[in-house]
Amino acid sequence: MQKIDNFINGKITPPKDKEYMPNYEPATGEAYSEVALSKKEDVEEAVAAAQSAFKSWSCLPSEKRASYLQAIANRIEEHLEDFAQAESKDTGKPISLARTVDIPRAISNFRFFAAAAIQFASEAHPMDTRAINYTLRQPVGVVGCISPWNLPLYLLTWKIAPALAAGCTVVAKPSELTPMTAFLLSKVCQEIELPAGVLNIIQGKGNEAGAAITGHPQIKAISFTGGTATGATIAAQVATQFKKLSLELGGKNPTIIFEDCDYADALQTAISAAFSNQGQICLCGSRILIQASIYEKFRNDFVALAQNLLPQDPLLPETKLGAVISKEHQQKILSYIQIARQEGGKILCGGNSIVLEGRCQNGWFVAPTVIEGLDYTCTANQEEIFGPVVTLLPFETEEELLQIANGTPYGLAANLWTNNLKRAHRLGALLEFGIIWVNCWMLRDLRTPFGGVKNSGLGREGGFEAMRFFTEPKNICIKLG
Ligand code: NDP
Repeated sequence: MQKIDNFINGKITPPKDKEYMPNYEPATGEAYSEVALSKKEDVEEAVAAAQSAFKSWSCLPSEKRASYLQAIANRIEEHLEDFAQAESKDTGKPISLARTVDIPRAISNFRFFAAAAIQFASEAHPMDTRAINYTLRQPVGVVGCISPWNLPLYLLTWKIAPALAAGCTVVAKPSELTPMTAFLLSKVCQEIELPAGVLNIIQGKGNEAGAAITGHPQIKAISFTGGTATGATIAAQVATQFKKLSLELGGKNPTIIFEDCDYADALQTAISAAFSNQGQICLCGSRILIQASIYEKFRNDFVALAQNLLPQDPLLPETKLGAVISKEHQQKILSYIQIARQEGGKILCGGNSIVLEGRCQNGWFVAPTVIEGLDYTCTANQEEIFGPVVTLLPFETEEELLQIANGTPYGLAANLWTNNLKRAHRLGALLEFGIIWVNCWMLRDLRTPFGGVKNSGLGREGGFEAMRFFTEPKNICIKLG
C-alpha cells in the first residue's frame, strides 16, 4: 500500500519510528494508503531543517522567492488532475468541486503571494523636519502552519504561500485524515527544486505532531485553521511562549433572505451555501433566516431542490454531493439530527445516512437534511454540525433577524439577500461576522481580510496583511540634522 511520508529538508522522509495509520477513502470506507504518524522527533528534524534554511531564504531577493512560488503554482496547474483526484479521494468531495474550486484556489494562493512578495512595502512616518521613522518588517523565522481536512490543499497553501513570500521557512501539518495533496505538494517542491528545508511537511495527528509544532520553542508564529476547541487549546499553549498566533475557526453562519431579493438567485445560492462539500465548509450557511412573508414559498422550493441533491460517487464528473469525511463524523452529524428531533424540530427532508450501490456501498453518506421549528437557542442552531444539515428560521423584523443571526458564539460569515441598498449597508454594519456577502456567497478576493469574530477566530487578515503576520515590525527612528 502506498505510504504517505514526511517532507523534511527537501527529502521524502519516513517517520523515525516507522509508524503509520490507514488513510481512508470516505466514499468507499476503505483504506487506500498509509499515512506517517510522526512524533516529536520528526518535528525536531523538520524545525532544524527550517532553521538552517532560514538565513539564505530570508536573504534571497524577493523576485527570486516569487519565482519559486510561481513555479510551484505552475507545476500544480500542470498536475491539476492528479491533485483533484487526490483531493476527491481523500475528502469524499465531488471531483468537479476539487477541479474547479479547491485546486485552482490553491494555485491562486501561490500566484497571489508571488506577486505580493515583489510589491511588499513598509511604512515611513516623517516627523516634520525633526526625524523620520521607518518600519522594518523582518520575517519572524520558522513558522508553523496547521490546517484541517475539509479544504486541505487550499487552506494549507493559504498559510504556506504568505509565509514563504514574507521570507519565513515553514513546518506545515495537514490533517491526518487528508494527507495526500500535501504529499503531492512535497513532490512538486522537489520537482521545482525549492531549496531544502524551506518548506517541510509533517504528516500525523494533531495531538502529537501538531502539538509538537505549536509547542516548539524555535517556532515563532502559528497560523492555524480548524475547530474552535482546538484553537482554544493552541491559544493557551502558545500564550506563555509569546508566539504570534492567527486562528481561523468554526462558524454557524446565517443565510438571510428578504422578500425583495432576486428570488431564483437567492434560492440557488442558498442551496450551494448549505450543501457544498456536504456542508463541510467553515463558510457554509447552515441557518437559513427567511422573512416571514415568503417563508412558506421559500421553504417549499428549498426542500424540493434539497431532496433532488442525492449523494453519489464523488469521482463521477456529474456528482454534486459526495461523502462526509469519516464514519465518526457521519455518526456525529446523525446524532445532531437526533437531538434536533428531541428538541422539537421537524425534519422536512433527509435526516438519515444513505447507502449507495457498487463501489461506494460502504461509504459514509448523509442525505441533505432540512429542519424547521427549532428556536434559535436550540442545539442545532447554536453548534457547528459541519455536515449537510440546515435549519430554517422565520423572522418578522430586522431587530428579530439580528437577535437570531448574532445569537450564537460564532461570527465567521453571513450572506444577505436583499435589493434594498440602505438595508444592506445598515445590516452589514450590525451583523457580527468577519465576512458579509451581499447577494453572493464564497466570492473571494485575496486582498481582503478573511476570517471571523467572536469564537470564529482572530487575526483576520488578507493581502499584504497576511504577509505582515509573518513579519516582526521594528521601528527605526532617525534624527534629521
Ligand atoms: P481540528 O481542530 O480537529 O483540526 C485542525 C488541525 O489541527 C488538524 O490538522 C489537526 O490534526 C490539528 N490539531 C488537532 N489538535 C491539535 C493540537 N492540540 N495541536 C496542534 N494541532 C492540532 O479541525 P477539523 O480538522 O475537524 O476541521 C474542521 C473545523 O475547521 C471546523 O470547525 C471548521 O469550521 C474549521 N474551519 C475553519 C475555517 C476558517 O477559515 N475559519 C476554514 C475551514 C475549516 P489532526 O486532524 O491530524 O488531528
